[in-house]
Amino acid sequence: MLIEKLLLHVLIILAPVLIQASLLENNKLGKSPVFIGILHGFAAFMCMIFAYESFGLYWDFRYIPLVLSMLYGGRKAGLIVLLFILSARVINGGDAIVFGFISAFLAGILPFLIANRFWTYAPKKRVSFAVLLGFWPALVMLAILLSYSLISGIPVSGNQEMGIYVLAFGGIQVLGVGIAAQLNEWMLEKQLLREEILKSEKLNTLGELAASIAHEVRNPLTVVKGFLQLMKKQASGSQQEYLTIVLTELGRAEEIINDYLNFAKPEFEKIEQINVKDVLSDVTLLLNAYALKEGVSLEEEVKEDGYLHTDRNKLKQAFVNIIKNAIEATPPQGKVKVSLNRTNNQSVIIVQDTGKGMTREELGRLGTLFYTTKDRGTGLGTSVSIRIIEAMGGSVHYASEVNKGTIVTITLPLNREQLKQVDEDIQDAM
Ligand code: ADP
Ligand code: MG
Repeated sequence: MLIEKLLLHVLIILAPVLIQASLLENNKLGKSPVFIGILHGFAAFMCMIFAYESFGLYWDFRYIPLVLSMLYGGRKAGLIVLLFILSARVINGGDAIVFGFISAFLAGILPFLIANRFWTYAPKKRVSFAVLLGFWPALVMLAILLSYSLISGIPVSGNQEMGIYVLAFGGIQVLGVGIAAQLNEWMLEKQLLREEILKSEKLNTLGELAASIAHEVRNPLTVVKGFLQLMKKQASGSQQEYLTIVLTELGRAEEIINDYLNFAKPEFEKIEQINVKDVLSDVTLLLNAYALKEGVSLEEEVKEDGYLHTDRNKLKQAFVNIIKNAIEATPPQGKVKVSLNRTNNQSVIIVQDTGKGMTREELGRLGTLFYTTKDRGTGLGTSVSIRIIEAMGGSVHYASEVNKGTIVTITLPLNREQLKQVDEDIQDAM
């Protein structure tokens, strides 16, 4: 049976993909075009040795490895497979050898031309592309078959058996290319994921190292700052001026280190019962002067109490960073509105500005360490705020539109005990 044989061939052509998959993880061999070429070439060779002979032609799937190796291994791999196919054709012999050569070259030419463009497509598109390309050798085979039949005098019209062969052959060929391409993509994705995990592990260790260094640097910095402050008191004239600059820059360095440490490991020093409403009022009061200087109006709409059990200063810092960013993004005459609401068990803080907004790409990068678009920015503020809020069990969500503004939604889970108390109070009042 032709079909049984062809299914066997599908197994033969999937073998190199699987072998490649198992090798890709631990050495470079799996990526070498020569190796891929030899693997697929051998598969094509086997297909042809076990070919099904009928109507004076060999029916097999030699072109699937050819297409796959051209696409996934590059032109070099594809040419190696072509060599395998040609030599197998010579070994097989027969009178249709010229047709075999012509069809091999024809089937290889299209994937050869497209091979370099292939990798510019997204993975899903690559699979559909490979399937489409799977039709090409099938078409070539059909054309060759028809012309061979014409020349050798085998009747084509009314030859039902041949029609079924062509259909089955073409169908399984396209299916085979599709399955193999999908397998290839899965294995590439798995490999990428593995690399990504290794990278993030490395980054994690680096981050911990950096945090401990930052911690060690902070102490001498504090000492230096203390002595400089003493010196400044005694200094006069230009020396005092210089010391002022030195001290502000030192303060900035300290701020960056503190921010970084907060990001690396937000430590809550003093945990107490706090009301989000009070913290927000403190922060807006603090930032009002800054907003005024920038010509931005800062509005506050606080409706509800929200009791939390956490570190007041850390929460303050989180709010300051986010609201300061909103003010900085907003042009003069613009508006920044901060509001506080309560849902069943959450405090919802919304910071809305009428500033420059962010593109999708910028939104995606927000929250990565050291990402900034400002000349003197540190790119730490947002990351630190998100880390602090998340450490409190809350979440931060950004929505933004370019030239329209940004809406930051912060949710914080309220204290359970306190919630009960508040609810009871409400019930008592009713
Ligand atoms: P920095 O403020 O030091 O630049 P941040 O981490 O606080 O660092 O912010 C990173 C970047 O995110 C900013 O440089 C800015 O481009 C963008 N950004 C943050 N908040 C807003 C906002 N409300 N509107 C527009 N852009 C913002
Ligand atoms: Mg900032």
